[in-house]
Amino acid sequence: MATTVELRDETRNVATGRAVEVLPGIWELRESLGPVFDTPECWVSLWLLADPAGKEVPVIVDSGVPRSTETVILPALRQLGIEPSQLAVVVNTHNHHDHAGSNIQLREATGCQVWIHKDDAPGLEQGSAFGDEPIHPHSADRLLEAGETLRLAGRHYEVVHIPGHSPGSIGLYDRERKLFFAGDAIQAQGTSTQGIAGAQDREGYYRSLDKLDALEIEHLMAAHPYLPFTDSHVHPASEVKRYLAESRRFFDEIDGEALDALRAAGGRATAAQLADRLCARRGFEKTCQLTAGILRGYLGRLAQQGRVATDGETYATRD
Ligand SMILES: [Zn+2]
Repeated sequence: MATTVELRDETRNVATGRAVEVLPGIWELRESLGPVFDTPECWVSLWLLADPAGKEVPVIVDSGVPRSTETVILPALRQLGIEPSQLAVVVNTHNHHDHAGSNIQLREATGCQVWIHKDDAPGLEQGSAFGDEPIHPHSADRLLEAGETLRLAGRHYEVVHIPGHSPGSIGLYDRERKLFFAGDAIQAQGTSTQGIAGAQDREGYYRSLDKLDALEIEHLMAAHPYLPFTDSHVHPASEVKRYLAESRRFFDEIDGEALDALRAAGGRATAAQLADRLCARRGFEKTCQLTAGILRGYLGRLAQQGRVATDGETYATRD
C-alpha cells in the first residue's frame, strides 16, 4: 500500500503557494520534496524576482518539481497580482528534477523563456522524472555562459559558473546587493534528505568554493536548507563565511569518515551498508535512497586512488 506523505506544511510554509518577501523584490516560494523524499524539514526554494518599482518584468529562479507550476508558482503570481503572461523567464540554476522539473508546464502556462547554462542543457534534452511525475525532454530558449551579465527584474546579475554538483551549475550574483543565488552548487554538510553533500566532480566543487570565497556575499540564497543551517537563505556575511567553511570541511573530512566506517564494518561492506553506518554516525534516523549512490561515487574515487579495493559491489580496506 502506498504511504501518504503530507506535501503541504503550513508551519514551514511549504507547498502552500504563498510567497514570502525575503528582501525587497525577492520572494521565496517553497515546494515540498514529497512524496519522493519523506523529509518535511527539507524543501526546494524557488525565487521569484519582481521589480519593486513595477517597471521591469518578473523572473523566477528555478521551476521546482513538475507539479510546482500549479501548486506554488501560479498561486504566488496571483498573490502578487502578476498576470501569468508577464513572467518573462525561468533561469534554472541546474537541470535536476527539483529545479527544472516544471519548465514545460511553466512555459505553457505563462509563455516564459527557459534559460540554463549550456553544460546542463543536455540534461533537459534527455528528460527525467520526479517520482511518478515525468519530465519530458525539452530544450532551453537561451544557453547561458560564464561571465554574462543578465538584467533580471530591474537588477544586474553576473552568471558565475560553479560546477561540481552538476557540470552546468550556475550562481547569479548581484554584486551591488552582495546577493548570490547558489542553487545546489555548494552544500555545507548536505540536506537532511540525502544525509551527505553531493558533488559529481570533487575538484570542480573545490574550485567553485574558491570562486565564492573570493566574492563579497551578504545573502546566499541556496535551493534547500543545507545542514547545519535550517534555512535556504543564509545571512549575514559572517554566516555565509561559515557556510562556505562548513562546505569545504565536509569534503576535507568525508573520505576519512567513509574509511572509518569501512574499518568499523570489519573492513568490507557495500555502499548501502556504509551509507547506513555513516547516516547513523551523523545522527540521521534513516538512510535515504540517494545516500548510497552519492557514497558509491566517493568510494569509486578512493578506489581509483588505490585507497580501497572494490569488485564493483563491495568495498574493502587496504590496511
Ligand atoms: Zn541538484
